[in-house]
Amino acid sequence: MNFVVVGAPLSGKGTISKKLSAYLNIPHISTGNLLRDLVNSNSKEISSYVDEKLKAGELFPDEFIYAVLENRLDKSDCKNGVILDGFPRTLTQAKWLDSKLKVDFAIYTTVSNATVLQRLSKRLVCPTCGSVYNADSYDRNYCDKCKTNLVRRADDNEEALLKRIKDYNAITFPILDEYLKQNKLVTVANEGSIDLVFEELLRKLKI
Ligand code: ADP
Repeated sequence: MNFVVVGAPLSGKGTISKKLSAYLNIPHISTGNLLRDLVNSNSKEISSYVDEKLKAGELFPDEFIYAVLENRLDKSDCKNGVILDGFPRTLTQAKWLDSKLKVDFAIYTTVSNATVLQRLSKRLVCPTCGSVYNADSYDRNYCDKCKTNLVRRADDNEEALLKRIKDYNAITFPILDEYLKQNKLVTVANEGSIDLVFEELLRKLKI
């Protein structure tokens, strides 16, 4: 089964995707993470191009994203299904995806503005394994899993966030209508206990 996870920045797409990935044993593919990995690329040109765009919170050109994603989708672990987090982000990307695989469900993660602001100031990430922590509930400055020192994401600043939210509202939001028409949309209010949110998601997916 193939899933796409669509939602505003900081709506917890990654958290939900990881849980579902562990539950169904299919890979969680975050285009944001694939791009952040490219910052460590051997090519100085690619690394600085990606780094600058990420820091500014700008969407990447479709063709660039397709190349990055296709490379990942070609791996053998994707044959039983995938959870795409942060893709598609434009209607054009959604059409492209339809030509690559059959989307079974689009999970729409919603949160209040207050939660977005709270998460922005508290989100810490592990630059090595990608684990995400909230400084309110985690009082160490290193990753539990791999002990690397935690950092803030380069685009978790007010200016880049505003750009990401603006693009989300103008460009990504209309995708939800498409999936609604196709009867594939499942909405989850993604705040509070993650276990309860996940239970609700499974009930709605009926899987
Ligand atoms: P968020 O949803 O919080 O903005 P992501 O980790 O999903 O975070 O994405 C981070 C950044 O990666 C985006 O701001 C954008 O620059 C880029 N990006 C991710 N996915 C796409 C995509 N499908 N198309 C274009 N740019 C993308």
